[in-house]
Formats: sequence, structure tokens, C-alpha cells
Amino acid sequence: MALDPNLYPADRVVRAQKAAAEAGLDALLVSPGADLRYLTGYDALPLERLTCLVAPAEGEPFLVVPLLEKPAAEASPVGDLGIDIVGWRETDDPYALVASRLPSGLRRVGVDNHMWAEKVLAFRAALPGAEQALAGQALAELRMRKSAAEVRALSEAATAIDAVHLSMAEWLRPGRTEAEVGRDIADAIIAAGHATVDFVIVASGPNGASPHHEVSDRVIEAGDPVVVDIGGTMPSGYCSDSTRNYVVGQAPDEYLRAYGVLLAAQTAQCESVIPGLTSEQLDAIGRDLIAGEGYGDYFVHRTGHGIGLETHEEPYIVAGSDLALEPGMAFSIEPGIYLPGKFGARIEDIAVCTETGGDRLNLVSRELRVLA
Ligand code: ZN
Ligand code: ZN
Repeated sequence: MALDPNLYPADRVVRAQKAAAEAGLDALLVSPGADLRYLTGYDALPLERLTCLVAPAEGEPFLVVPLLEKPAAEASPVGDLGIDIVGWRETDDPYALVASRLPSGLRRVGVDNHMWAEKVLAFRAALPGAEQALAGQALAELRMRKSAAEVRALSEAATAIDAVHLSMAEWLRPGRTEAEVGRDIADAIIAAGHATVDFVIVASGPNGASPHHEVSDRVIEAGDPVVVDIGGTMPSGYCSDSTRNYVVGQAPDEYLRAYGVLLAAQTAQCESVIPGLTSEQLDAIGRDLIAGEGYGDYFVHRTGHGIGLETHEEPYIVAGSDLALEPGMAFSIEPGIYLPGKFGARIEDIAVCTETGGDRLNLVSRELRVLA
């Protein structure tokens, strides 16, 4: 599928330079990762050799790349941005090269939050007069408000992961291990159009009580509730993440009661999304309902996380955050109830705040799915 030309627009570096200035940063240093891809469309490999977008708050941005990576950089969307791509040779010091091209007298530079420590320290040595700070918050201010093209890309990702959930009966059966089922799901994630599998959680019976259990050699038994939380990254760079719950045969009554409470809470949260609602208010809508039914101690994590070029990014839907939702913000709504030693359940959809409310991107039924 051809990449949507609106997905990586040319004005992002300029917007990032403005955001840097507003955050009191004299320059941004952005190494390979989601921030670089967001700003330039360049999906560069994180390697020991330095690749770095250098964006002074005032002045011309440029991209330094190892000379051997220059053709790949030029072939990526960054080649059309009009940004100077500066190749460095194996015997050059790329950090000194960056310092020599930056305006003198920089007082504070922002490094991307995932830059390797060895590169951060090399920049500290090359720019001794500049205090280092994290660039993440300044860039998150841009990244957490999705464009229409980004929402379309997230919707495509959601449709792809929905297709995997819809076929779960092909793989999830008593007598198979979680790991066996997980391998089939991973293949299906790719077959559905993802470029990579990011995670596969198949948590059966008591394993469901551990929210980030992945897979194990446990054999799935008749009557086990199973939490299936899966996601991948599409060729566009945008991620999917969705959780559904299955039972093979007849689930215990105690589980069915808890599941009803969870479904009501998650549904209420999805229906409450509207601009101006704060993150902690959205969290509380589900948490209060779950606590009111006696399960408050068993909902042990935040309601959700933003999603885009990373599975977990801003905004986080969590108690204590007074961030007000705005149109274009995309995030998971994934309350859970976990009874240690017994079972767990979590329902997860990706939601997008719109001008008038919220859209759910995952459209598979949230009812407990009973597999024969
Ligand atoms: Zn999630
Ligand atoms: Zn998930």
C-alpha cells in the first residue's frame, strides 16, 4: 500500500523548532526512533554510528548521517523536505561536526528521550557549554494531537488487529498451550497487514490476573477465561493495540459477574470521551464504577495510554493528570479486573477524541466471546 502523502507533512520540523523555542531549548537533537520518524518520515535504524536531526530553534535544520546511510536517507521522505543531509566519513567525529554547524553560545539543548546514553554523553562533551534537557515533552505536544491522516493510519491499524481477534476461534482451543496459540496469532498479525508484531499476550486462567503476562507453556483448559491483548506496527509506522476476552466452554459465575462490571465500565468510559474532559476524570469514570461493585482493589493500573508511532506515548489516561482531552488525541481505554490466583479480564479499545465526542477505532464486539 502506498504511503499517504499527508502522513508526514513537510512543516513538522518548523513546528518542532517553534515548540523547542517555547520550551526554552536552543536546539533539538533527535536520533533514530519515533520522534525522528514523526518529524521527517525517516524510519532510520538505531545504530552505533550517529544519525541525528539537528534543529536549532533559530536557523536551518540539518540531518547528519553516516555516509553509508546517506542514500537510504535521501530515498526516504526526508529527501523531499529540503533539509541538508550531511554525510560523515568513518574517520570523522560526527559530534564535533554537529557542534561546528550549530550556532555558538547555545545554553540548553533538547535530546530525544530515547537517545542512547553513549550519544548523549558524546554530545555533552562536544557541546560543553550547553545544558542538556529532554526534548520529549516539547515533541509530545505535537505528537499527541493527531492529524486526520494519522487518525486514518490508526484506524487502518485497528481494523487489521480487529481481523485477528475475529479469527481467534481458529487457534484458541483447549489442549493447546498459550505459546502455541501465541505463535499462530503472531503469524496472523503479519498476515493482517502489520509490518511487525509488537506483543502477544495470551493469558489463560490464573495467568490472566497478571496484566502483562505474555505467553507460557500452560495448557489452556476447558472453562478457562483467556485475556488476549495483541498489537503490531503497520507499514505506515502507526500501531495497533486491542484486548478481547475469550472463554473456552463455560466460564465460572464469579468471572461472569466481574466481566459484566468491567464491560459496563469500559463502555461508559468510551461513551464519555469529549473535548475538555480531563484524563483523570476519564480514568475515574471507569474506576468509580468498578470500585462501586467491590472490585476497586483489583483494577491495578491506569485506564490507558496514547498511541501513534509508539504503542505507549502521551497522553496517559491516569489519576492525577489534569490534561484536558482535545480533538485528535488518540489513546487506549483499557480498564481491567484482576483476581490473583483466579483470573483476570481487560477490555481495550483505541479511542480518538473528536470535536463532538469520541470515536472508537476497534469495532469487534466487546462481549465475552465463548468459543466452543
Ligand atoms: Zn494498551
Ligand atoms: Zn493492549
